[in-house]
Amino acid sequence: MRTHAQAVVIGGGLIGCSILYHLAKFGWTEVVLLERDELTSGSTWHAAANIHGLHDSTNISRLQHYTMALYKELEKETGQGCGVFQPGSLYLAQTEAREHQLRLQEAKARRYKMNFYEVDRTEAERLHPLVDFDGIRCIMYEPEGGNVDPSGVTMAYAAGARQRGAEIHRFTPATATEQQPDGSWIVRTPKGEIRTQWVVNAAGLWAREVAALAGLQLPLIPTEHQYFVTETIPEIATMGRRLPSVADRDGEYYLRQEGLGLLIGAYEQNMKFWAEEGTPQDFGHELFPDDLERIEENVMRAIARVPAVGEVGIKKVINGPMIWSPDGAALFGPVPELKNYFCCNGLIPGFSQSGGLGKLAAEWMIEGEPTLDMFGWDLARFGHWAGKAFTKARVQDQYSHRFKIHFPNEERAAGRPVRTRPAYALQKEMGAQFGLNFGWEHPLWFATKGEPREETVGFTRQNWWEPVGREVRMLRKNVGIIDTSNYAKYSVTGPGAEAWLNALFANRMPREIGRSCLTPLIGKRGGIAGDFTVTRLGQDEFRIFGSGMAERFHQRFFQAVPLPAGTEWRSMTEALCGFNVAGPKSRELLQRLTNAELSTESFPFMRSRRMTVGGIDVVALRVSFTGDLGWELYCSQDKQVALYRMLVEGARELGGGPVGSRGLMSLRVEKGYGSWGREYSPEYWPQESGLHRLIKMDKGDFLNREAYAAIANNPPRETLVMVSIEVNDADATGGEPIFLPDGTPIGQVMSGVYGYSVGMSLALGYIKAGSAKPGDALTVAILGRPHRATLLERPPFDPEGQRLRA
Ligand SMILES: Cc1cc2nc3c(=O)[nH]c(=O)nc-3n(C[C@H](O)[C@H](O)[C@H](O)COP(=O)(O)OP(=O)(O)OC[C@H]3O[C@@H](n4cnc5c(N)ncnc54)[C@H](O)[C@@H]3O)c2cc1C
Repeated sequence: MRTHAQAVVIGGGLIGCSILYHLAKFGWTEVVLLERDELTSGSTWHAAANIHGLHDSTNISRLQHYTMALYKELEKETGQGCGVFQPGSLYLAQTEAREHQLRLQEAKARRYKMNFYEVDRTEAERLHPLVDFDGIRCIMYEPEGGNVDPSGVTMAYAAGARQRGAEIHRFTPATATEQQPDGSWIVRTPKGEIRTQWVVNAAGLWAREVAALAGLQLPLIPTEHQYFVTETIPEIATMGRRLPSVADRDGEYYLRQEGLGLLIGAYEQNMKFWAEEGTPQDFGHELFPDDLERIEENVMRAIARVPAVGEVGIKKVINGPMIWSPDGAALFGPVPELKNYFCCNGLIPGFSQSGGLGKLAAEWMIEGEPTLDMFGWDLARFGHWAGKAFTKARVQDQYSHRFKIHFPNEERAAGRPVRTRPAYALQKEMGAQFGLNFGWEHPLWFATKGEPREETVGFTRQNWWEPVGREVRMLRKNVGIIDTSNYAKYSVTGPGAEAWLNALFANRMPREIGRSCLTPLIGKRGGIAGDFTVTRLGQDEFRIFGSGMAERFHQRFFQAVPLPAGTEWRSMTEALCGFNVAGPKSRELLQRLTNAELSTESFPFMRSRRMTVGGIDVVALRVSFTGDLGWELYCSQDKQVALYRMLVEGARELGGGPVGSRGLMSLRVEKGYGSWGREYSPEYWPQESGLHRLIKMDKGDFLNREAYAAIANNPPRETLVMVSIEVNDADATGGEPIFLPDGTPIGQVMSGVYGYSVGMSLALGYIKAGSAKPGDALTVAILGRPHRATLLERPPFDPEGQRLRA
C-alpha cells in the first residue's frame, strides 16, 4: 500500500470509484481508494440503477448527460461491461402543472441539444404497448433513458482508475483521519497509514461515521427504500425488444423492464427511517424484510397504468437503505472549515449523476474549482443550523414527495423554523409569509386582513402575486421597510484590515472613512465567486455585506488569504439585524427619527456612517438594492424589534409599510441589478455580467487576479441582458431558455419577475454575445411554450439612477 498519496478516497461504492477514476484520468495517479468490505457494499449493489438525463436544474441535466454518455465509453475503455440498457424513457403528465414542467424541460433540452421530445399517444403506445395512456395530457420521450448494472458500472470505474495507476484496497477500512499541522492528512487503516494531500469522504451509508473521524457532522439520515420485480410477463417475453422505462411521477412510482418482467419502485408517504443514530459498522450486503404493504398505494397506481403488473406474481423484493440530505441533493465539495477534505455524500439518483459528480470533484480538487456552478449541490448551502431534527423533518418531506414538482418560489414548511430573529413573532402578527434563507426565516410578503395566509404554489402566478405588487407600488410611491437581516455581514478590524480586503477583493477598498464600494470576488477560473458591499467605518474598521445563503461558501475564499497579524475577521450575521428603508419618502421617514443630516450633500449615495435612529445606534449605508432612494440600517439583534416597530409605524404615516423579499426581487430586476446565485456565478466572467468595471487590475495583487487576467481580454461568450416578455398569467422564474424568433436557442433566463412599478413582465438572462441587439424580438419559453419578448436597451426603472441619488 502506498504511504503517500495525492488523495485518499474513503468508500468503494459507485461515487468513490467514479471520483478515483476521474482523479486518475485528470492526472492524479498517486491516488488510493479504501473500501472496508467488497466494492459496492453500501447502497450501490442493490440499486435499481435507472438512468435519466433531464432534471429541473440545467447544470444537473448537463452532468447527467455526461454520466450517461460516459458509461458506454467506460465499457470500451476498460472492457468491463456496465450493463447499459437504453431503451428510452417515457415521461407522463397527468396534471397541467406536470405538463408545464415537462414542456419546460423539453425547451431546455432544445437549448442544450439534448434528446428529449414530445410524442403523441400513438407513438407512445407503439413504444410501450403495456401502458394505458388514458388521462395522460402530455408524453415526452428521452431515447437515452434506461438503466445500468450497478456493480458493472462500479467495477468499470475501478478498472479505469487502476489502469491509470490508482490503488484500490478492499477490506481496508479507514479508521482515523488526522489533519497535520502542514494541512496534509494521515489516514489510518489496519494495514498501515497513508499521508495524503486530500481526503475524500465517499462513504455513502457511513458518510456520517467517516465524517466524525474528522470531527465533522453531516446533515444526513438513511431511509429504507423498496422496489420489486415481477415474474415473466408473457407480452414482454414475446416482444423481441426492450421496453422503455416509465416515469409516471404523478403516480409516485418508477417502472422499467427487468429481465422478462417489470421492476416497480416507490417513494411512499408512510416512509421509514433507518439507523437514525448511526449506520452499524457490521452492516454489509444485507437487505431489510419486505414490506410491500407500505408501498401498496403507489403500486395500485402503477397497476392502474400498467395492468400487466397486477397479472403476474412477484419474483423478488429489494428493501435496502439509502442516505439523504435535507433537500435530497448531494452534499458536495470541500468542507470550508477543514483544509482539503472533500465530501460527496447523500446521492439519491447516483447512477444518473456519478460520472458528472466524479468529474466535477476531480476538477475541484485538482484545478481549484468545478467548471459548472454547483451551488445548489454544494454542502456549504447548509450550516450548523441544519441539525438532526431539521434534517429528519426535511428528509421525511423529501422522501415522501420525491416525485412531487418543486415549483419555483415554493417554500416547504417541514422542519421550520430553525433560525429566527427577534422580530419574527411581530412580523408573523403583521401577516408575514416566510421563506427559508440559510436557515433564517425571512418575510417574503405580508398578507393584509382577509387575505389567505397560505401560499399557493405553481408555475403560473399565485396568490402572492397581487400582495407583492401592492408592496412594490407602495415602496415606489412612498416608502417600504425591507428586513435585510439575512444578508451575510462581516467585520474586519485592525491595522491590516485594508490590506487584507484589498488582497481578497477585486475592487480597490475605500480609502476614506464613510465611503463604500461594491466589489466582485474572483473565482479560480476568473469568474464571479461573489459580490459584496464594503464600507469603511474607521481607519482600521470595515464592514462587509454579502449574500446570506453563500456565507459558508464564501469562507473558502476568505480563508485563502491569510489575515495579517493583529487583524480580526468576524461574522456579524447573527449579531446584527438590518432594514432597508427605501422609496421616495425614505429620507422624510428617517429624518423624523434622527438628528443626523440626510440630505444628499451631507449623506451622499454610497456613503455610510454611525448614527442613532429613534435612540437606537445603527450603522447606516446609503445604498438600496431596490434601485430607489434608500438606506440600509444595521443595529444589534436586541434592538431589532424596537427599530422595526418605529420604522414601520413611521412608514405607515407616510403611506408606506413593510415589504418582503419577493417585492425586493421585483424591485431589483426592474432596475437591472444582478444577484449572487443567479446573474453572478463562477461560470460567468465579469465582462459578461458587467462587473468588470469594478475590477482594479492596477491596485496590486488580489485573490485569483491571475485567473482573471488570463480571461480579462477575452470577448464575452454571453452577455447579461434584460428582456420584457408578453405573458398572460405566468412570469419567467429562472432557467427558461431564450430563442431567436426562428427557434435558434441563444440563452437562458437567470431571474424573472413581474415589474409591478413599470407594468412589464421582465427577465434578466444571458444570451450568446452578438446574437441580438436592443429592440430585437426574441422568444422565451415560459411554461415551455414560446412567448414573445423584446430585448431592452436599458432597465425600465430609473435607468439614469436619479432616484437612487436624489
Ligand atoms: C433500493 C434502492 C434503489 C435505488 N435505485 C436507484 C436508481 O434506480 N437509480 C439511481 O441512480 N440510484 C438508485 N439508488 C441510489 C443509489 O444506490 C445511490 O445513489 C448510490 O449507490 C450511492 O453510492 P455511494 O457510493 O455514494 O454510497 P454506497 O454505495 O453506500 O458506498 C459507500 C461505500 O463506502 C464504504 N465505506 C464506508 N465506511 C468506510 C470506511 N470507514 N472505510 C472504507 N470504506 C468505507 C462502504 O463499505 C461502501 O462500499 C437506489 C438505492 C436503493 C437503496
